[in-house]
Amino acid sequence: MPPYAVLVDDYPLPRPIAGHPALEFCNTWAGWADPDTHGSEWLTDFDRFVVWARFTGLITEAAAGRLRGRTATAVLGRARALRTALYDVALRRDGAGLAVLAAEAEEANRSTRLVATGSTIHFELPDDRDPLLPLRSVALSAVELLGGPDRDAIRACPGDGCGWLFLDRRGRRVWCSMAACGNRAKVRAHAARNK
Ligand SMILES: [Zn+2]
Repeated sequence: MPPYAVLVDDYPLPRPIAGHPALEFCNTWAGWADPDTHGSEWLTDFDRFVVWARFTGLITEAAAGRLRGRTATAVLGRARALRTALYDVALRRDGAGLAVLAAEAEEANRSTRLVATGSTIHFELPDDRDPLLPLRSVALSAVELLGGPDRDAIRACPGDGCGWLFLDRRGRRVWCSMAACGNRAKVRAHAARNK
C-alpha cells in the first residue's frame, strides 16, 4: 500500500489527510493538478463511495450496512460532479461549480429532519436506506466548511500532479503529506543539489 492509501473493507482508499470530510471527498480523485493526465478514480463504484463515507464519518455504520452492495450508478455520477464543483468552489475558481454545489446542497437540506436529542435540537439527514444519503451528507458537509472560518485555510498541495486539498489553519503546512508529496519533493531537491 503506498503511503497515501489505506485499506478499508478490502478497498484501497485515500488516507485521510485533509482535516475535513468535504476536502477528503475532493481527495478521492487524484490528478487535479495535471489536467493532461487522465487522473485516477478512487470511487470506482457506489459500494466504495459508501465505504468511504462510513470511514470518513459522514454516514453511520448502520446506514452503510443498508447501502452496501447497491449499484446506484446515477448517484455516483452526481457525487463525482459534486466533487469537481466543490474543488473549484473551495479554490475560488470561477465557473459552474457553485450552481452544482447549490443544487445538491439545497436538495440535501430539504431532506433533513429536525431531531431532538436530550436538551438540544438540530437538523439531520434521516438515517435510512436512500442511496442519496452519502451524497447529501457530503453536500451538507461542504456547506458547513465553506460557510465557516476554515474556508480561508483551504490549500491545494503543490506536489507534482497532486492538487489534494487540506486545511492549513496556522499557515505552516505545505504538503498533503510528508510521506507522499513532501518526501518526493525532498528527494528531488536532494537530487538537484547533487547534480
Ligand atoms: Zn500532495
